[in-house]
Amino acid sequence: MSSCVTICPIGPVDEGILEHIAECISIRCGLNCRISMRMENPRYAYNDTRCQYNSRLILKHLLQQCPFDTLRLIGITPVDLYVPILKFVFGLAQIEGKCSIISLHRLCPRFYDQPSNPDLLLARVEKTVLHELGHTFGMTHCRDRRCVMYSSVRIEDTDLKQPDFCPTCFELFQWYLKKSLQQSS
Ligand SMILES: [Zn+2]
Ligand SMILES: [Zn+2]
Repeated sequence: MSSCVTICPIGPVDEGILEHIAECISIRCGLNCRISMRMENPRYAYNDTRCQYNSRLILKHLLQQCPFDTLRLIGITPVDLYVPILKFVFGLAQIEGKCSIISLHRLCPRFYDQPSNPDLLLARVEKTVLHELGHTFGMTHCRDRRCVMYSSVRIEDTDLKQPDFCPTCFELFQWYLKKSLQQSS
C-alpha cells in the first residue's frame, strides 16, 4: 500500500493525461499509481497582480491533504504556477518530501502559439513528472542536458532531455527509492 503514488488532478485535467502519468510512473519506477478525486481550482493560491498561482501554497495544501498510506502525491494542474523569485515554474517539489505539483500550462504547444500536439504534450508531462518525482526522493539537478534531472528553464530544455535518468542518476534514483520503500514499510 505504501509503495503507491497518488496522482491528484487540481482543476480540470484530461483523463488521458492522468492515465499516461500513471503508466509512465509504473513502467519507469515500478510503483503502483492511483488517480484520486479531483481537487477544486486552487483559488487560495491565486495572485491577482501576477495572474498566476503560488506553487508553494498549493504544495502546502497538498501536504495537508496527503493520504497517510501513499508514498508520494503528485498534483497536476492546468493553472500557471510561480514561486516568488521566478517568472514561472513548470513544477515544484518538496525535496525529500511527499508532495510535488506540475503545471500543464506551459507544457501545451498552444502556449507557444504552436498547433496543438497531444503526443508532444504527453512527452513533456512525462519528463516533468519524473523530474519532480526525482526531487521528492532527494535527487538534485544533473548537468547532463539529456538527463531528466536537468533543470528546465525553457521548454526547449524539456524537449531536449530524455524521459529517463542518465546512468548515474538512475543508480542514485534506485538507491533513494529503495531507501524510501524501506522507511515506509
Ligand atoms: Zn528541478
Ligand atoms: Zn543525470
